[in-house]
Amino acid sequence: MEWRDINRVIFVGAAAGAVWFLHGSAAHGFLDPYIDAIGVACTLIGGFPIFHEAFENVMERRMTMELSMVIAILAALAIREIFTALVITEFVLAAEILEGLTVGRGRKAIQALVDLMPQSAVVRRGSDWKEIAVDQLRQRDEVLARPGTRIPVDGQVVGGHSFVDEASITGEPMAAEKVPGAIVFAGTINQSGALEIRVDKVGRDTSFGKIIEAVERARNSQAPIQRLADRLAGYLVYFALGAAVITFLITHNIRSTISVVIVAGACGIAAGTPLAVLGAIGRAAQSGAIVKGGRHLENLAEIDTVLLDKTGTVTLGTPEVSEVQPATSVLASALIESAAMAEGPSEHPIAKAIVKEAGRMGVSVGLPERFDYIPGRGVTAIAGGDEIVVGNWVHVAGEVPEADSRNEKRETAVYVTRAGVFQGTIYVADVLRAEAAPAIQELKSMKLRTVLLTGDSKTAAEEVGVALGVDEIFAELLPEEKLRYVQKLISAGSKVAMVGDGINDAPALTEATVGVAMGSGTDVARESADVVLIGSDLSKFVQTVRIARHCHAIIMENFVGTLAVDTVGIVLAAFGFLNPVLAALIHVSSEMVFILNSARLLPRRRVGGAAGRRVKVSVDVPRTFPG
Ligand code: ADP
Ligand code: MG
Repeated sequence: MEWRDINRVIFVGAAAGAVWFLHGSAAHGFLDPYIDAIGVACTLIGGFPIFHEAFENVMERRMTMELSMVIAILAALAIREIFTALVITEFVLAAEILEGLTVGRGRKAIQALVDLMPQSAVVRRGSDWKEIAVDQLRQRDEVLARPGTRIPVDGQVVGGHSFVDEASITGEPMAAEKVPGAIVFAGTINQSGALEIRVDKVGRDTSFGKIIEAVERARNSQAPIQRLADRLAGYLVYFALGAAVITFLITHNIRSTISVVIVAGACGIAAGTPLAVLGAIGRAAQSGAIVKGGRHLENLAEIDTVLLDKTGTVTLGTPEVSEVQPATSVLASALIESAAMAEGPSEHPIAKAIVKEAGRMGVSVGLPERFDYIPGRGVTAIAGGDEIVVGNWVHVAGEVPEADSRNEKRETAVYVTRAGVFQGTIYVADVLRAEAAPAIQELKSMKLRTVLLTGDSKTAAEEVGVALGVDEIFAELLPEEKLRYVQKLISAGSKVAMVGDGINDAPALTEATVGVAMGSGTDVARESADVVLIGSDLSKFVQTVRIARHCHAIIMENFVGTLAVDTVGIVLAAFGFLNPVLAALIHVSSEMVFILNSARLLPRRRVGGAAGRRVKVSVDVPRTFPG
């Protein structure tokens, strides 16, 4: 807010007071033309920003509050209602200040986010530590995070031990313990110890950079409802102008006619919608979910089905080898060696588990000469001159004795063959995410159908699905089949959210109404998705759906409210119950109510937890509206 704006309000207010006083005083009469001339000048000078904005809106062919108010002001001047013109000007100026304050808060919320991003980092150069700008860091540089400072990059801890407040990324208030090997995020706060971190991503590429980008994009992108809102806003103004013409033709009362023009407007929804969308995306970001645009928020509010991938999504995706069952006359170490060699280049969680097990057993493995990954099935590699096939039952079809295929276990069975000879079975077990079952119960209580989609075997899928209480389970699906399932639901009129993490989920994520990727997932999944759960926490997905629904509800409230105020206002004005001043008061104050209604969604505290300065905001806006 600037002094100029306040001075303008005072100036116009004083002018209105003077005009009113002089018209009522003894000077009334011969001085009138001069008083009016000065009043007109004051209206034009004081209201200059409004006229300016209205002119721009005309050029852009947009109907706005400013434009309809300028029409009203000019009409009032034309019938020599100078006092009325000044008062309307005064209302609009005051409303603009209030609106500026609210929208400014949205902008400040974004700036606050940007400010959390450290600009410099202490980096190792030889045996020294040097402070340099973050954008000069390179991958695999080592940086130092001192206690009490913000971590400057996304990377992996290579030395030190500390607790890190990750609220800015995950929304989680509990500090997370970090030891070598742990992943840390830019923008989080290192609390107790010093950490040496190997740089993985910097600046805009970090998770935090992505949050900022999402929020900024939200400010610029329009949700479909927002476009609809703009269009309706236009119609409403034409409707009001039409009503004004009819009023004039019937009543011949110019004051009623002007009141009709003044009272109607769709600004509540036109100005309230972007604010609500921005607020909702900011709030989602604060709790650890990047929503990549207003459109996705709008879609998320309308979903009826949630599809969940199993491995890495409802499970931690860090499975461990639970049992090694070599075929007769094969050594366990030979089985593991074959499997690990073939899996070496794969980034599938099962591959990682097998490679890790080889390390644990002290089996050293080389890299394969050729490597093929068949998503949803397994890998085929050429190593040491032999073809090695590692994967599920479908993948090894025909090469494994039938007796070995009957997997009665809950674990995932991985079959291994080498040069066409069955080597044995490796069982891999994964742990359910702690929040998965409660999150799914909550989704169900929100009347959402939950479906588990997995490429894993039926037994393994059922074990997990029953523990979670999902409505339906589909197992042994190839990536295309996941995709086809999504397409089938969508063409049947469903709105579907798909949550996944793997390369095999990417096609389905793209096709779903809203694709949701786990932060710990593959790059492909995160790129294909519309929403990314940075902390890979499913409860944040539930929260984001709630935020989306809340946003939708607020937009609808504004919509219905604006319509109601307009209709009642136009009728009252047409029948002469409103004078132009009262009409302007109703218009401007109802718009303010809708803007404040939207502002309820703006994040309430500064992102960044304990170290961030808290901005306390308490706006208590009635859910009802005047008029
Ligand atoms: P999900 O749908 O549960 O995330 P995937 O589609 O990634 O699982 O994999 C489905 C199944 O295919 C796995 O359960 C496993 O049996 C097999 N599979 C996939 N990739 C591999 C791999 N790299 N090594 C061994 N088996 C694999
Ligand atoms: Mg997966």
